[in-house]
Amino acid sequence: MQMNKLETNERLIAAAIFESKNAILITDANNLIIRVNQAFTVITGYKIEDVIGKSPRLLSSGREHKSFYRAMWEKIDNTGNWEGDISNKRKDGLIYLERLFISVVKDRHGVVLNYVGIFYDITTLKKAATEIQRLAFYDPLTGLANRLLLCDRLKQALLINKRNGTEGALLFIDLDNFKILNDTKGHDIGDLLLKQVAQRLESCVRRCDTVARFGGDEFVIILEELSHQHHEVEEQAEIVGLKILAAFKDDYLLDSCVYQCTPSIGITLFDGYEKSIDEPMKQADIAMYQAKELGRNKICFFNSQMQININARIELEKELHTALVENEFRLFYQSQIKNTGEIVGAEALIRWQHPQRGLLLPIEFILLAEKSELIISIGLWVLKQACIQLKNWESQTNTQSLQLSVNISAKHFCREDFVNQVVEIIRFYSIRADRLKIEIVESLLIENIEESIDKMNSLRAIGVRFSIDDFGTGYSSLSYLTRLPLDQLKIDKSFIRHIGHQPFNGVIVQTVIGMAQSLGIEVIAEGVETEMQRTFLEENQCHLYQGYLFSKPVPIERFIFDK
Ligand code: C2E
Ligand code: MG
Ligand code: MG
Repeated sequence: MQMNKLETNERLIAAAIFESKNAILITDANNLIIRVNQAFTVITGYKIEDVIGKSPRLLSSGREHKSFYRAMWEKIDNTGNWEGDISNKRKDGLIYLERLFISVVKDRHGVVLNYVGIFYDITTLKKAATEIQRLAFYDPLTGLANRLLLCDRLKQALLINKRNGTEGALLFIDLDNFKILNDTKGHDIGDLLLKQVAQRLESCVRRCDTVARFGGDEFVIILEELSHQHHEVEEQAEIVGLKILAAFKDDYLLDSCVYQCTPSIGITLFDGYEKSIDEPMKQADIAMYQAKELGRNKICFFNSQMQININARIELEKELHTALVENEFRLFYQSQIKNTGEIVGAEALIRWQHPQRGLLLPIEFILLAEKSELIISIGLWVLKQACIQLKNWESQTNTQSLQLSVNISAKHFCREDFVNQVVEIIRFYSIRADRLKIEIVESLLIENIEESIDKMNSLRAIGVRFSIDDFGTGYSSLSYLTRLPLDQLKIDKSFIRHIGHQPFNGVIVQTVIGMAQSLGIEVIAEGVETEMQRTFLEENQCHLYQGYLFSKPVPIERFIFDK
């Protein structure tokens, strides 16, 4: 009685299991189907009567190799079960992927009675996994490999090269002037260009190569399986580079706008002995910058001299941080002269007295200083030195009316506390503020015009004067100019240089002078080197000059007040 109840229970459980959503297929010892459940019919499309007495082989998609089944049966025979993914074919011919568990049923003596297969369709699961993979490793805009996949592939490529003694090539591609397109036509148009660029890049390489979007308008290509000869690898990489330049030549149609785009390409080779993937990445990047410096739309191979230059720059940057404390900066003074010959003041120009490299000009370190907050400390140092000098001049009758111009970097001027800093320094040294002139470049004023006007007004209220440096090289928009509370325009030396040369069109110089006059502000010409330039300027009503014709920038001991 008790036994019967147990048997009935087990039968009920077995029946319930049999009704599960997973397909169940049971074969006899000869592997011929004796039972299938409802879920089997749903997944495979075969009815019970279609399959009874047949081999499960009728589900086979033909996609799996014989060796796959051999290994499967070996495992079943040895361990009594098997688990894995397998693609099968539905009755209607559709191929699907299933996860299958097979177990053997044996009697007490170990004789095989049945095989039970349980499986479910994982096609959608697999698709979702593929989609997740796509999202994680591919750039959604262009469909190219993303940075993550690029790094992974590069790591692999390094390993393979090291193992096989081969070389690969890495190309770093940056679009020229992409920012201008984005800023003027909008991001949607920018995106259209990036998509088309991606297609063109892919058309330039083989299937085994990787084209990745590194970010923004930067793309990276890994070329693999190249020649075993070093010089041939270089050639192969160059050929791809040239192909890319050629592929960019055709116009791009972005919506209805026809656009031309050129790339700058940096190339480096790698053999797998690099410290990490950063090394070839950095080298290709450095070479790309070199291509830009050489005028864009170019290919440039990395070489060790580039690395030496970069290292030197990094070294200089480090040293720059201690230059202030070590008191290595100097101010040089270049006189500013009236047409009467009278010296009205000077411009303070910074120099770095480097302990090993000698006297360095601002071109070698100001940009580096601007990369960090250092430019603020330098600016403050210059302002303080200038005030000390002005105080000194104030105390003597022959110099008390001299003005001193200082250059202030955009980054410093934009600081919220700039006005306060200047006011404090002027108070501390108690100089006459109207002897101090601040030179700034126009682009920075225009970027944030309202704020610039406020700052300039606050400082002008205590007497500080303002001059626009390098005038004519930026926007030079008249509408902006009229709004700025200025005292002086300084015509850039690039215009002065051409005076007296053929062909010289003096219109720009004359226009700037005319503009300044109509706005009621002073105009000064910088970079005056010849008497002919001075005469031209004077004839055109510019009465203030600065340049080698009068004096080079010199240390204060050599600065001569009387002309
Ligand atoms: P800038 O303010 O336009 O200075 C004029 C530059 O022209 C100076 O170069 C000066 O030496 C040079 N120069 C003067 N007369 C002539 C000439 O007749 N012919 C030629 N070819 N050049 C002449 P420098 O001293 O090398 O300064 C270069 C730039 O560095 C300056 O251009 C300025 O923008 C920046 N700079 C200089 N000192 C400072 C500073 O203290 N702070 C900041 N933030 N920038 C500075
Ligand atoms: Mg200047
Ligand atoms: Mg200038």
